[in-house]
Amino acid sequence: MIKLENVNKWYGDYHALADITEEVTQGEVVVVCGPSGSGKSTLIRTINRLEPIQKGRILVDGQDIYGQGVDVNALRSRIGFVFQQFNLFPHLTALENCTLAPVHIRKLPQQEANALAMSLLDRVGLAHKASAYPAQLSGGQQQRVAIARALAMKPPVMLFDEPTSSLDPEMVGEVLQAMKGLASDGMTMVVVTHEMGFARDVCNRVLFMDQGRILERTTPERFFSQP
Ligand code: ADP
Ligand code: ADP
Repeated sequence: MIKLENVNKWYGDYHALADITEEVTQGEVVVVCGPSGSGKSTLIRTINRLEPIQKGRILVDGQDIYGQGVDVNALRSRIGFVFQQFNLFPHLTALENCTLAPVHIRKLPQQEANALAMSLLDRVGLAHKASAYPAQLSGGQQQRVAIARALAMKPPVMLFDEPTSSLDPEMVGEVLQAMKGLASDGMTMVVVTHEMGFARDVCNRVLFMDQGRILERTTPERFFSQP
């Protein structure tokens, strides 16, 4: 589903991704962990073309996403992205945040987009907050709206960049719960996180990064049984 072939990225002369080759198959939940600055965020941002790469290839469903004529909006519709800092539109309600892209990019009729958004807000436990603005929601609620918003594009793949790192501890659980729900529905997910409980309980594979390389590829069982 996602294939990285000899992916290299530099920021100036800093080698942020050093020849990464990796594959994520359909239905897999992959956790990417490793020290701060090791390239985790850069790695998943390249998959959504939020960061360009200088060398190598990234294929999504067989399509070279840096190839000629790739429609970036279409690509991002197929790959949902959840940011550390929610990035909701502050002047739109929770519902409107979830219907904007479906109406303007997927060209869904407004009624249909509203119904879809309501069902997704319900799925993350926030149907009752549909008319609230982001400033009226807690961090955990905002992040759950951000997940619903990404799902509204019906992406076959979801990427998460430290989705709980900017939350107060008491709100981490509700966001992880929403992510667990997705995983058990069979969503293909790549999750950058320091939440080792999530890694242990939910993921199929752990990638451990350091200095722009994947140092270790393992299963959660083996990762957590190491001394
Ligand atoms: P992680 O997500 O593992 O904390 P990042 O992918 O954010 O790591 O960053 C990897 C390295 O690349 C870090 O050393 C960071 O300082 C550097 N870096 C990230 N973004 C930029 C940028 N826009 N310009 C220059 N260096 C960057
Ligand atoms: P995160 O914790 O999500 O990895 P960072 O604090 O590393 O975020 O980076 C936040 C933003 O700053 C990102 O857009 C990243 O590309 C940019 N950035 C990170 N490190 C550097 C750097 N050394 N020089 C320039 N920009 C950077």
